Formats: sequence, structure tokens, C-alpha cells
Amino acid sequence: MPSDTLGAMTARDRELGMDRPITRRDFIQGAASLAAVAGLAGHAGAEQSSGARPAAGSTDSGTRGAPGHDYPPARSGLRGGHPGAFETGHELAWQGRREWGPIEIAEDEPYDLVVVGGGISGLSAAWFFQQRNPDARILVLENHDDFGGHAKRNEFTHAGRTILGYGGSQTLEQPRDYSAEAKGLLRELAVDLDRFDSAYDQEFYRRHDLQPAFFFDAASYGSDRLVHTAAFDPAYFLPAAPCEVPIEEAVSRMPLSEEARADLLRAFSLDSDQLPDHGIFSEPGYLQTISYREFATRHLGLGEEALGVLQCLPEFYLGVGIDAAPALEAMAMGLPGLGGTSLRHLEGIGRRVLRWLVQPYIHHFPDGNASIPRLLVRRLVPGVAPGSDMEDVVQAVFDYARLDVAGSPVRIRLNSTAVRVEHDGDPKSAEGVHVTYVRDGRVERVRGGRCILACWNRIIPHLCPTLPADQRAALARLVKVPLVYTNVLLKDWHAVKKQKLGLAICPGSWHRVVTVDFPVSLGGYAFSSGPDEPIVLHMQRVPLKPGLPPSQQHKEGRLQLLATDFETIEREIRTQLAGMLGPGGFDPANGIEAITVNRWPHGYAWSPNPLFDPDYAEGERPYEIGRRPFGRIAIANSDAGGRAYVDCAIDEAWRAVGELET
Ligand SMILES: Cc1cc2nc3c(=O)[nH]c(=O)nc-3n(C[C@H](O)[C@H](O)[C@H](O)COP(=O)(O)OP(=O)(O)OC[C@H]3O[C@@H](n4cnc5c(N)ncnc54)[C@H](O)[C@@H]3O)c2cc1C
Repeated sequence: MPSDTLGAMTARDRELGMDRPITRRDFIQGAASLAAVAGLAGHAGAEQSSGARPAAGSTDSGTRGAPGHDYPPARSGLRGGHPGAFETGHELAWQGRREWGPIEIAEDEPYDLVVVGGGISGLSAAWFFQQRNPDARILVLENHDDFGGHAKRNEFTHAGRTILGYGGSQTLEQPRDYSAEAKGLLRELAVDLDRFDSAYDQEFYRRHDLQPAFFFDAASYGSDRLVHTAAFDPAYFLPAAPCEVPIEEAVSRMPLSEEARADLLRAFSLDSDQLPDHGIFSEPGYLQTISYREFATRHLGLGEEALGVLQCLPEFYLGVGIDAAPALEAMAMGLPGLGGTSLRHLEGIGRRVLRWLVQPYIHHFPDGNASIPRLLVRRLVPGVAPGSDMEDVVQAVFDYARLDVAGSPVRIRLNSTAVRVEHDGDPKSAEGVHVTYVRDGRVERVRGGRCILACWNRIIPHLCPTLPADQRAALARLVKVPLVYTNVLLKDWHAVKKQKLGLAICPGSWHRVVTVDFPVSLGGYAFSSGPDEPIVLHMQRVPLKPGLPPSQQHKEGRLQLLATDFETIEREIRTQLAGMLGPGGFDPANGIEAITVNRWPHGYAWSPNPLFDPDYAEGERPYEIGRRPFGRIAIANSDAGGRAYVDCAIDEAWRAVGELET
């Protein structure tokens, strides 16, 4: 960021290093984002936009791919929903644009299958279809500049070394419980689940004494304070070092009022059997009908300040804070209330919660689940990358120029947003589907014998306005959870070690979670071995508006996110890390080598929340109605299964391909 573009550079900005030439993209992205939501105030419900055109090209295109070619994983700055990826979609969905001008026919020869959406689901659909139709010609259209959807790879280069991080979909959760089809696909891709037992250095956090903590920031709490504590146990997520600080001592260090400290001490120390009305624990149904906030107010007697400290704890998994998280699910994540008595109280509430408790959370590639689409693309597109297994994919260099070449059985066309999908006649008798898309401002059209919509389901009524009304209404319900996954490359981590930072919950900061990246070494790639080496800090935010029903919170959060520019986020990051790590000697102006902010305005798939949604009968859930096949068009994506997981994305692809064959 050149300093002359920082109009009002303050002394504090200079201390933070806002003028330092780190790897990031510059103002143009923030400006584009702000333009995209300009005039949106008051339109959150209707989701209308100014429909700004894509920003001019990025200033920091990645360079590590084949010589002379762009390499998107190495880009930094604003990623995920990057400028240029979403504007056409917003014109379609928010502005209702239907006329796109003169159409160029991209190819004369029709495809056997056109897939809209190049995430795990779309790529799996291409794979399953190809297995059944070995000679098929398949085209995958994807609106981002990289394939993988949420499963995105972030690459950094520092001092000649490549450092990997994950930009979205993170870990294979409970993979031994996946369906036969999902397990079969992983097997085909040579993913050996046992390999993660050693690839993930499960002693890393303990060896370096990196503990769980709360971080209270000065702007919200009057002083910056990192408070290590055993009050919550992040074991289902990360094997942090144990914190020996007694709860009383930890709570006494929190910069809170006496009353809030007393509240938290009582909550953190209690055992459910000590609750006056502990009979409620034998009624899991009850704990699924009240929010954790209600539970903590009514049964633990917590006041507003203490509730504020706990508010964000369930966000990262459940996509809502304590105001909208069912009490039982929040407690299964470690919020106080269950005490020591009992995971047995969780019996009967289903896989969604119990999945954390059974298999360790270690099935993680150095680039997260991004290795799954990379493995798929390597198999689908001949010559795109060398290698054949889960080890060599980690460092394989992909030649993006080969993704979309004539003659390839599968072509992956990036930067291409589908805007219209229609049968060439009556859906019942049509012989093909036309797919119109916008690429680099040009309107193009291809024809497919069949089409799978593996994109976010909520856009489908705009792509196919002739769908039955009840199906369109059901699809419109599927509002996704917005998320931000930020990766910050530190040139060393002495301050992290000194501050014993493993995972911090930060109730007042812009990023509510900070962790040291998962320590995974695989395929010759080695995780940071000690504090002299660079490391990635991973930071998360779920933009929400507590107090509203979840879908409304998510719409509001998405608008907040799109309206927040990179400069603002960078300042927040530097301020937060200075407050947290400064006492350990961290200098934000010199310690940060690169920042990549992966924003996901459309993140986790919608799934029913027992507090707000009816107990739908089988077949009546919005995503079940929404995914009905329509002539030669079938619908995939994790949205279609109502679960934000890799296996769901694969299972829905399998179902969609099966529907096209019948
Ligand atoms: C931050 C984050 C963390 C997650 N962590 C995990 C995890 O740890 N474990 C786990 O199992 N799951 C996780 N998930 C859930 C994740 O959604 C799934 O794992 C999986 O990646 C979903 O794949 P998909 O193909 O269904 O959807 P997506 O990955 O969303 O792919 C759909 C693609 O379609 C594209 N598209 C949309 N509209 C159009 C259009 N009109 N034209 C062209 N393309 C279009 C989208 O841009 C997107 O690239 C996470 C999700 C997020 C957002």
C-alpha cells in the first residue's frame, strides 16, 4: 500500500505498519467492495445493489504457477469473494437484470454436461458423470478466479520458502462416517485417512505450551489483556496445551466489572448437578428449544456483561452467537452449563454435535480441504499438474493455462458467472440446456445435453426463473452464513511462543478467533519447526447482527462484510495482534509479512435451527424441495443437503448425477 494513498496516515497507523510494503492487494479492492454496496442501506432484506462492474485487475497476481501464467493461490489481499467474482451475480440477483446484450457462442459443439460451480460438489459431479460416461465432454463454469469454491488454497512465499494456509473449507470432519460414495471418492483420489495421524503434529501446541485464552482488547475493555484459561476446552478443534491457571485467577485478570467476574466465575466453575433445576438436563428437548443466552440468563443468572464475553463462542461452528444458538449445542461446544457431569446429556441430539466428540479434528491438509479439489482437477484435466497421490498434490504446481483447452475431456472455465440456464424447449421434452454466462464483461453461451447446478442454491431461481413457484420459494430460504478466514504470515513467532498463544477468543475484536495454524507436514512440505521460522496466524470472523432471526443476521452480516474495505480490516488485524502479542515483543510494523483476507459473503450452507425453524417432515425441508430435478437440470452443492460439509457436497453431486441418468 503506497503511503500516498493513505490519505490520513496517523502516527498510530505508522506504528502499526499500515505503510509497510507487505504482500497484500491494495485499495482498489476495498473501493470496489464499497461501490458494490453503495446505496444499499435499508435494502438488506431485498438484497438490491448498485451492481457495480468488476474492479480493474488485481495488483498482485500470483506468479508461482507455470512460467508466464497467473497463479491464483499465490494472490493475497482480499480473496474468497474477491472483486470481480460477485458483481455480475449481484446484478442478476439484486438488481433483477435479465437482459445481457448480444451473445457470443463460445463453442459450436455441445457438451454432454455443463456444471455451474467449480467447488467440491461441482467437481465431484464432473467426476461421477465421467465415471458413468467415460467419453463425455464436460464444462465446469466458475465465477471465481480459482477453482475449489470454499475449499481455497492460500500460498505465501517468504525468503524463498512456500508457506501454505487454508482460505475456507478447513478439515475433513468425521470422515470415517462419510457415505460409501464420499469415502469411495476419497479412496479414488488416494486419500489415506490414517496418514493424518502422523502428518498432523498432535504434540505441537503442547510442546510449545500454546494455550487457550481470552483476549480483551483496549477499545472494548479499556486495556489489552490476554488471559489464559481452562474455562473453555478447544480440544474438539485443536489440541492446545493445558492451562494450569486456576479459574479464579484467570477470571480475576479479566478487565470486567466485579459483577461480571462473579458471574463468569460462577458459570465456569459450576457442575450441572449443582444447578437448582438440574432436572432440565434430562430433557435434551428443552435445551434445544431455548437459546444459550436464555439458558444462561434464566438458569445461570448471567448479566449482560458476562453474556457479552460468551456471545461469539458458538459462531464459528454454528454460524450464530449465543442469542440464536440452541443451548444444548452451545454447551456441547464447551460453553458453561453442562459442567463435568456429562456428555451423556448430549445423547440423542444427533451427529451435528456429537461429530466433534468422536474422531479427532486432524484430517487436515496443509491447505485445508483445498487439496480435495486439487486432487479432483488433477484427475479430470489431463496434464494440469504432476503426481498421483495425497502427498504429491501438496506441492504440485498447477498449470492454470491448461484448465480450459480445446480437446480436453473436462474444461474448467474460471471468471465465468452463469446468468441464465434454460432448456431448448419444453423441459419435459427438451434435448439440451443453454447456459449463458458472463466472462470478462463478454456474454457467452454454451449448450449442454445436461446441466448440474452445483452453485449456491439461492441463486438458482434467478438463473432458472421458470422453475415451479414452490421450488423457487424454497431455494430463496437458503441464506448462507457469511464468514471471514484471514491468514497473516508472521516472519517469526517468538512473541507467539512467549505469549503462549494457541487459540484466543476475542469477544471485542474484529476477528473473534485467533489461532496458530494447524501443524501439518505432508508430501515434503514442512510446517514451521520453531519460532525462528515464519508461521501463519489464522483469524476468523462471522459477521452477524445479534438479536435478529438467523437468516436476517446473515443478510445483514453479508452487507457489513461487503462494505468493509481491506484497509479497515488490515488496521484491525494490526491493532489486535499488537495488543495480544506486543507484551511478547511483537512489532506489528515489522513482524507481518503478508495478509490474505478470505471473505465468504455466502459461506456455510443453510441448515435448520431448532429455535427458528419448524420440525420439517421428511421431504419438506426447504433444501429438499429446492433440489428437485427440473427436466435436464439437476441441483447439487452442499446447500442441497442442508449441511456445510465436504461429504454433503460430494453426496449431493452423486445424487444429482444419478438423477440425470434416470
Ligand atoms: C469458511 C468456511 C469453512 C468451512 N470449513 C469446513 C470444514 O472444516 N469442513 C467441512 O467439511 N466443510 C467446511 N465448510 C463447508 C464447505 O461449504 C464445504 O466443505 C464445501 O467446500 C462446499 O462445496 P460446494 O461445492 O458445495 O460449494 P462451494 O464451495 O460454495 O462451491 C460452489 C461454487 O459455485 C460458484 N458459483 C455460485 N454461483 C455461480 C454462478 N452463477 N456461476 C458460476 N459459478 C457460481 C461459487 O462461487 C462457488 O465457487 C466450510 C465453509 C466455509 C465457507
